[in-house]
Amino acid sequence: MKKFKAAVLGATGMVGQRIALMLSVHPQFEVTALCASERSAGRSYREAAKWVVADEMPARFRDVVVQECSAKNVDADIAFSALPAAEAALVEKEFAAAGVAVSSNASAHRMEEDVPLVIPEVNPEHLGLIDVQRRKRGWDGLIVTNPNCTTVVFALAAKPLSDAFGVKTIIVTSMQALSGAGYPGVASLDAVANVVPFIQEEEEKVGRECGKIFGRVAGEKIERHHAIVSASCNRVPTREGHMESVSVSLEKNAGAEEAKRAMREFRGLPQKLGLHSAPANPVIVMEENDRPQPVRDVMRGGGMSVCVGRVREEKALENGLKFTVLGSNTIRGAAGAAILNAELLAAQGYL
Ligand code: NAP
Repeated sequence: MKKFKAAVLGATGMVGQRIALMLSVHPQFEVTALCASERSAGRSYREAAKWVVADEMPARFRDVVVQECSAKNVDADIAFSALPAAEAALVEKEFAAAGVAVSSNASAHRMEEDVPLVIPEVNPEHLGLIDVQRRKRGWDGLIVTNPNCTTVVFALAAKPLSDAFGVKTIIVTSMQALSGAGYPGVASLDAVANVVPFIQEEEEKVGRECGKIFGRVAGEKIERHHAIVSASCNRVPTREGHMESVSVSLEKNAGAEEAKRAMREFRGLPQKLGLHSAPANPVIVMEENDRPQPVRDVMRGGGMSVCVGRVREEKALENGLKFTVLGSNTIRGAAGAAILNAELLAAQGYL
């Protein structure tokens, strides 16, 4: 299998660490640069990164010297970006202009007309925008983005429903883990034994991104999907995994059993292509009435599956269904999402 040289931008952060860990055993991507801010540059990775993910720091990265996020000094075919949005806005463009393919977690470019916002099981055809992007911007490189960690979780569960029955309205209430805010993240006095009913910009992002992801390619841009998406986002004191209560109004009536079958049988392009990070079952349907739970279920499918439970009728909506869905915010919602996008880029000849 061809190996691509990979840089991790924001390698010392919560998502960057997860990316480094996943790439340390990846058959297609070989890490050639770990990059972060000027605070970390020049220090060894073990000194610069306060290691917060569960597995150990890969031994071969410990003494690697962290570099600044500058395309001039970095030798890479692809850059995985886990930068804060403000930094990503400049740095990702610099890398793309220098011929590097950027697979980004940041929100900076997600809504730009010629930038694909992709969940490989949901809208792989949006990668076609890369040809438009390269032509318009004169880049040899590219930028592809994955959605916000809240969006990806319910979007994966909604895709089989959208395909089989059509979706008119989605109402989602999230219970989002502390790791979603990065490290050190939420202050302990706000987090412990508490719920914070506000996450800056999150509800707006969820609505905007869902319309684009479920939209269709129309010429050189994406025509947004017509579904109304209403989100209420809460920070709760769990460590990993965003849990979401979802109510949907469907175009066609579907019973709970039909909906569960559609979710269970759903397979996307990554499964058909056998991509390395693709879970066998993107949507796992659980029958126990007290599941899914973050502590027990968040790592199903290596953290790349979402788990759905409590599928039942929603009497308050026309053709209504409601369910609970859980997904790993740092893997399916971030690191794994960017890596799966990169695997799809490679499979489709964009690298
Ligand atoms: P984080 O833990 O705060 O890490 C931020 C990283 O960016 C660190 O490596 C930091 O390096 C680097 N950085 C900060 N300022 C920089 C600058 N001026 N120049 C270069 N590098 C700089 O954040 P995170 O949670 O990993 O999130 C990273 C990105 O992924 C964000 O855009 C976030 O919205 C997105 N995201 C996060 C999640 C999640 O579950 N956490 C999910 C989806 C998307 P230093 O250590 O040197 O400061």
